[in-house]
Amino acid sequence: MKKSTSYFLQVRPKVPARLARLEELANNLWYGWDRSTRRLFARLHPGLWKATGHSPKAFLKRVDEQLLLDAAEDQVFIGNFNRVLADYDTYHDHRLPSGGADWLGPDDLIAYFCAEFGLHESFPIYSGGLGILAGDHCKAASDLRLPFAGVGLLYRQGYFHQNIDGEGNQIASNTDSNFDDLPVSPALRPDGSEAYTQIELPGSVVHIKIWQARVGHITLYLLDTDLDSNIARDRDITHRLYGGDTAMRIEQEIVLGIGGVRALQALGLKPTVWHINEGHAAFMMLERVRQKTSAEGFYFETALEAVAANTIFTTHTPVPAGHDHFSEGMIQHYFEHYYAELKLNHARFMMLGRTGSSPDFNMTALALRGSRFHNGVSRIHGSVSSEICREMWPEIEPAENPMTYVTNGVHAPTFLATEWIEVLERYLGSEWNARMNDLKLWEGVDDIPDHVFWSVHQTLKVKMLNAVSERITAQHFRNRGSEAHLDRLLKYVNPENPNILTVGFARRFATYKRATMLFSNLDWLREILHNPDRPVVFIFAGKAHPADIPGQDLIRHITHISKMTEFTGKILLVEGYDLALSRKLVSGVDVWLNNPLYPLEASGTSGMKAGMNGCINLSVLDGWWGESYDGRNGWAIKPVSETLSEDIRTREETRTLYELLQDQVVPSYYAYGKMGFSPAWVKMAKRSMASIIPRFNSKRMVSEYLAKCYLPASRQHVLYTQNEYENSHLLADWKLRIKAAWSEVSLNRTQLPVAQINYGDRLYFEVAVNLNRLTPVDVVVEILLGYNTKNDQLVSVRHYRFESTDRINESGEHVFVTELQPEQCGNLEYRIRVYPFHELLTHPFELGMMRWL
Ligand SMILES: *Cc1c(COP(=O)(O)O)cnc(C)c1O
Repeated sequence: MKKSTSYFLQVRPKVPARLARLEELANNLWYGWDRSTRRLFARLHPGLWKATGHSPKAFLKRVDEQLLLDAAEDQVFIGNFNRVLADYDTYHDHRLPSGGADWLGPDDLIAYFCAEFGLHESFPIYSGGLGILAGDHCKAASDLRLPFAGVGLLYRQGYFHQNIDGEGNQIASNTDSNFDDLPVSPALRPDGSEAYTQIELPGSVVHIKIWQARVGHITLYLLDTDLDSNIARDRDITHRLYGGDTAMRIEQEIVLGIGGVRALQALGLKPTVWHINEGHAAFMMLERVRQKTSAEGFYFETALEAVAANTIFTTHTPVPAGHDHFSEGMIQHYFEHYYAELKLNHARFMMLGRTGSSPDFNMTALALRGSRFHNGVSRIHGSVSSEICREMWPEIEPAENPMTYVTNGVHAPTFLATEWIEVLERYLGSEWNARMNDLKLWEGVDDIPDHVFWSVHQTLKVKMLNAVSERITAQHFRNRGSEAHLDRLLKYVNPENPNILTVGFARRFATYKRATMLFSNLDWLREILHNPDRPVVFIFAGKAHPADIPGQDLIRHITHISKMTEFTGKILLVEGYDLALSRKLVSGVDVWLNNPLYPLEASGTSGMKAGMNGCINLSVLDGWWGESYDGRNGWAIKPVSETLSEDIRTREETRTLYELLQDQVVPSYYAYGKMGFSPAWVKMAKRSMASIIPRFNSKRMVSEYLAKCYLPASRQHVLYTQNEYENSHLLADWKLRIKAAWSEVSLNRTQLPVAQINYGDRLYFEVAVNLNRLTPVDVVVEILLGYNTKNDQLVSVRHYRFESTDRINESGEHVFVTELQPEQCGNLEYRIRVYPFHELLTHPFELGMMRWL
């Protein structure tokens, strides 16, 4: 007998007219940070809300019609709905003053390219820190009402879902998203038709559909190659985030970089500022250069000046091996057809991605050469990046090269728990959000009564414990664990007893993050965890990349420890780390632990989220904590000298970790006063919140990008494009002339050095410069006067410029002179240097050329 065939039928509920704007709310990622909006949906049907992965759009497609009809008549629901709409409309009111957009011109548009964006768990096109940072950047750009557009890829499969089996093996699974359930819609051309663009790969033309997601005020454009008009292989390009081999990777990056530029043009958008967020998107500058060299007939050098002048590149990786790179053969295969249009041959094309020792094409190198604003993501990472990239500016000391930093921040409304927002409104006033970067305002956190502060924390902790218990239970039963054992597992994460010191550790399981450092000395750990009066529980969570075997071993190791009888219930590992779990953990634990191997944590952001919520950080002084720790807002593990072996460093730092836990963290937590909490703890938790919110929120971060990068880039855009790119031509020609002459330029002393003077005396200096066909105005000759430190760095330096004279000495060298009166006393040192200079340069040392006497 023939089996019956099933046909699928989807019946979409009809949203009642009165609730029509629910659709609008579901289609704007504003819900990613507005908790009232999410609660509106969740309360309608908590089960369905969970089942649809907290996706308002998927929810609205599946909810029961009657439920909507009832809600439309329910005064409480309508009341909440109207309040949410009022907030939504206020936020989107274009007449409100902006927080920075005014400084930009009416034609300005910032285009921000990134391979992943983490805006909310219902929109799985992110894997971790980088994506969430990009999401927070967009949210803050919206808060500040910047003219801003994000550009990324719309992956059919986001990052994998993680299960962990009873043995600690990570089981990765991938599911296809239904784009209908995502908060996206096809982007439209000015004429109202769906927007497409295309790129060329060897042997095929890849058609790209452009989608858009609304993120408050701003729009995120997402590219999708999964179209009938593409051959199977090309359809796969946007299939999976960070999936596939290197060929897939380069194709994704070509779609993102080159396709992204064309997509914006297809939509009629004309960015004036371009931001490459991590090297994946660096091909963007190539396409912009190509359009100038092929269509506008520019020399490559001129086009590069014009493009780089308004381009920003942010690097996020502190190890060279972590930077994307491709083999020479692969570059030739994918870009050969491009060479002629760029007016480059193969060798010169390869030079764009060249780094000293490697034959590969490096995306960081390309991004650096194609941008004039470069930054790392914390103070420490900025200087590490200056070192890593020093060969880009070979004659410049790393401390002086153009690599700077803008420290990351996190989006406070997204990560700050509602309970805290309510308390802040009460004690700091409703302007706390508008004045978020005002350090003074945050001193007001001290005015929150200790017991109020503590009770908010405990409320959030209970919520976290509930969520963790629920997840551990599901995980345990799926792994066929017994009921009896579950009680032991959950003993210390009991929502009815939130008085046990709880430490959280959740992040990507990469080896440098040393997730298992805590287990280096189990005897000592046992001593810390097993004081019956002062128990401690550790909650771990995180994913390891499916290709990262050592990372997955960490998961097995933690599982192994957690199963030892003596650690059962005190070491817990929760599977499926994502934004939803992250929000719970960072607002609910007492201590947030981070112990990376210095200086490999470029910034780290989860500790900022925890600190904002009054959790206390216990971290290695690396990344952001290196500039946040003030001795009163948490605990610091000072990194041991990098000159020692990794084993020794880890051993020493583990000792500090144990000592801090045993001598400070545990005693402080359990120093309960009459009120049932430790006043010293609350003091530190308040300090944590008050010191971290104003400095490590994404509004501060984006404002800093605006001031340091976007505004100058926008000005340079005008400067370099006006009068038919006159200045781009000028600067490109000048640089060619300098490059041709520089190897012979030298600096020579013409007088004997004076070693001793009296304060107030004037000093006369004369040097001769072999300019080798350059003219005196092409260079700056300068003297640096300061104190030497032991490591041969000058400090408290004063700079004095030399003036050119008309004199040419017998060797044909130009004589430069200066006269100065030292303002400092003591043992000073001075050094004299010459470097090429042009007022159009973005950074005085961008050519990387300098000669010292
Ligand atoms: C914040 C966050 C990260 C990044 O945290 P780091 O401290 O930078 O490692 C990763 N994943 C999720 C889900 C997050 O919320």
